[in-house]
Amino acid sequence: MSAIEQQPQAIYLRDYKAPAYLIKKTDLHVDIYDGYTIVTANLLLASNPSATFPVSQLTLHGTDLELVSLAIDGKAVPESEYEFGEETLTIKNTPAHFLLTSVTKIYPEKNTSLEGLYKSRTMYCTQCEAEGFRKITYYLDRPDVMSEFTTTVVADKKFPVLLSNGNLIEKGDLDNNRHFATWNDPFKKPAYLFALVAGDLAHIEDSFTTSTKREVTLKIYVEPKDLDKCNHAMTSLKNSMRWDEEVYGREYDLDIFMIVAVDDFNMGAMENKGLNIFNTSCVLAKPETTTDGGFQRVEGVVAHEYFHNWTGNRVTCRDWFQLSLKEGFTVYRDSEFSADMGSHTVKRVEDVSMLRTLQFAEDAGPMAHPIRPESYIEISNFYTMTIYEKGAEIVRMLANLLGKENFRKGTDLYFERHDGQAVTTEDFVAALADASGKNLTQFKRWYSQAGTPRLQVTDEYDEDTQEYSLHIKQSCPPTPECQQKLPFHIPIAIGLLGSAGDLPLYLKDAEPDFETGDNTHKVIELTQAQQTFVFERVQEKPVPSLLRGFSAPVKLHYDYSREDLMLLMSRDSDGFNRWDASQQLALQVINEVIAAYQRGKDINVFPIDLRLINAYRSVLEDESLDKAMVAYMLSLPSEAYISELADIVDVEAIHYSRTLVRKTIARELSSHFELIYNEYDHEQTYAATADAIAARSLKNVALSYLMLLGDEKIIRACEQQYLTANNMTDVMAALTQLVNTEASLAQDLSGNALADFYERWQDESLVVNQWLTVQATSSLPNTLAKVKALEVHNAYDSKNPNKIRALVSSFCNNNAINFHDKAGDGYKFLADKIIVLNTQNPQIASRLLTPLTKWKKYSPERQTLIKAQLERIMAEPNLSKDVFEVVSKSLA
Ligand SMILES: [Zn+2]
Repeated sequence: MSAIEQQPQAIYLRDYKAPAYLIKKTDLHVDIYDGYTIVTANLLLASNPSATFPVSQLTLHGTDLELVSLAIDGKAVPESEYEFGEETLTIKNTPAHFLLTSVTKIYPEKNTSLEGLYKSRTMYCTQCEAEGFRKITYYLDRPDVMSEFTTTVVADKKFPVLLSNGNLIEKGDLDNNRHFATWNDPFKKPAYLFALVAGDLAHIEDSFTTSTKREVTLKIYVEPKDLDKCNHAMTSLKNSMRWDEEVYGREYDLDIFMIVAVDDFNMGAMENKGLNIFNTSCVLAKPETTTDGGFQRVEGVVAHEYFHNWTGNRVTCRDWFQLSLKEGFTVYRDSEFSADMGSHTVKRVEDVSMLRTLQFAEDAGPMAHPIRPESYIEISNFYTMTIYEKGAEIVRMLANLLGKENFRKGTDLYFERHDGQAVTTEDFVAALADASGKNLTQFKRWYSQAGTPRLQVTDEYDEDTQEYSLHIKQSCPPTPECQQKLPFHIPIAIGLLGSAGDLPLYLKDAEPDFETGDNTHKVIELTQAQQTFVFERVQEKPVPSLLRGFSAPVKLHYDYSREDLMLLMSRDSDGFNRWDASQQLALQVINEVIAAYQRGKDINVFPIDLRLINAYRSVLEDESLDKAMVAYMLSLPSEAYISELADIVDVEAIHYSRTLVRKTIARELSSHFELIYNEYDHEQTYAATADAIAARSLKNVALSYLMLLGDEKIIRACEQQYLTANNMTDVMAALTQLVNTEASLAQDLSGNALADFYERWQDESLVVNQWLTVQATSSLPNTLAKVKALEVHNAYDSKNPNKIRALVSSFCNNNAINFHDKAGDGYKFLADKIIVLNTQNPQIASRLLTPLTKWKKYSPERQTLIKAQLERIMAEPNLSKDVFEVVSKSLA
């Protein structure tokens, strides 16, 4: 075969055609040997009655396969009757119904892309979403071809555990020390949900009784050394199963549900029917090795993959343009689940922080796309913050617009109508509209228009008429797919604050149902480019509390005074907006320092607005606030968020100004922080409960402020915390502070602590990842040199995605001051990694590109340096589709 001369081509939604053939039944026989695997596929094919073009040939997908034999209804197909394309096999003159038997040879041991069937450490496993199944056998590898699968896995007995989707129907011994297991999945599914595992694995087992009293066996498979880290995932699984029954009326359908933990995995986890495959980082947890964040991540990901059983598996996507149909909805579901398990406000703050930094940045960059894209070159590039997180925000808006009861009616109708089908986002919205009677026509623009809408809000109060008017203008910057946006349908949750708290709301000319329920909190619906909302009987000039709970993924601007923000911080009945007011107040103060820095002033003598300090003091003294909220309110907006809001990112100005403000807060409020730190009971037993997590988080925020003062006493206390803590959260918090503190004592201690940490945890891969990350994200000078040294350390493995994320990705994404070093060494370092990964693992290579795609947000000098690296990557021969798409769009 010849090399690709042409540039990779885009695929368009408008070109969608129903498949010419359907696969009624899929019978796979997978024979695993050392070094290679033989796959025999028996496919019962039938022409598709709804295909819109005549059927005379069958084109199957297949990548990196060696065809051994091919037969139709038991008769060999002559070579003249089929031909190979780039990634296809076309069989000519095919009948309307037939049995196709193919035998192919594949090499899982050599598969470094981690798509299809591959070997991770001691086990064989698969990853098929989106288009990995075509690396296992020739198939109609598209989500609208749903088939019943029966899978026989055969391997040497040194791999005692043989798993696939569905229920186990037979197993037994074979000659030559081999054995087999046959699995049948009675639910039709697309090939991307196929999974297979063969390995020497241990497991924990539990069971769950469904709402109709069926017993389901639950098993979590891991390498034997990790058996003590599965309980949290099991508890999370059972909680998810119960929650989905209670909140959505969704019951589990097979007799068994299995999770397998795999160390080499491109994604977080995969919802294969009945056999979820997880990155070890998303399933293993115990206090000694896992931080609070890690515990919460396990709970969230286990729930997410489980919830896919209905939103994704039973009802799946017609094509990959519909990816957000399953992902947006499922992220919304797992986020509500996590909120129900912990705190709604805290979960909302966490989700919105991530959305506003990462997704908003994506929406403003060269890869911006609507949640239902119109085209792609490589679908793997569209597993994005936009599809997932913004997709979830769209579903959240729908839930809020419909109200709890109607939203549930809508989802019930959606499942009832489309069970067993591959459908579109249009079908989803139609079910919600039909069940609720709500007109969602304009709302659907959220699916086709990219970009983050901007709301400009002004107001006026008339004392005589007691009328208060809010004028809201919406606009949306152009994005690659669309220059001129039509107005969005935007739900805006609001309240009005008077001197004594929330005021009752009487909207002029409102529909009657506006007046029902709590009358201090309402949702107004913005549908036009400019709209005015008038409130009556407002007895004093109010401070508006806008976009409560972040009711829409937009950038809202209202000219708040610092006094207004302080009022919202202390009085707003909406917890989210209290936090957001603290962020806005801090931003105003930091931006003043940034401006001074840019004017060449010595910022160390710049007077910081003491109102921020006073506001923080009130937060620290407010007994009514949840500790997690205090911790979040005291954490200044991140450098990433400040950068996202800036037109041109001034890396040094942002870093040094934010640090200066933090130091001032530390100095002014040190006695408060000392009190919090000293009052905390460092010897209590670990619990991953919301309260315990909140207390740890506040205590460690206090520590991080105190360490900025750099005195010996607190540095020693920090070391003590590192040495004696009984949980990884406190160990990592202390280690992070030591590593990032410039004082020579702290640096000496951090050297000892890092050596000690590695010595202690070198056999725990996930813990070693944290050790890599803490070093890669140090804001002190010379970090890049340390990162390069770590690349050749035993701790690192340049083929393992978790290690790459821990070291390379952490440095490039979460260490702006070092990555954006003026000499451009950080950019060159990243480009070097991408060039190697382009052939080894294109998906990971492409994901690493993100920081380079934002080059237009930097100064001309930095733009030149970053662009040169993008051009260097572009000039590489044999660029993968994944990397080509992102680099070419970035340079366009
Ligand atoms: Zn998902």
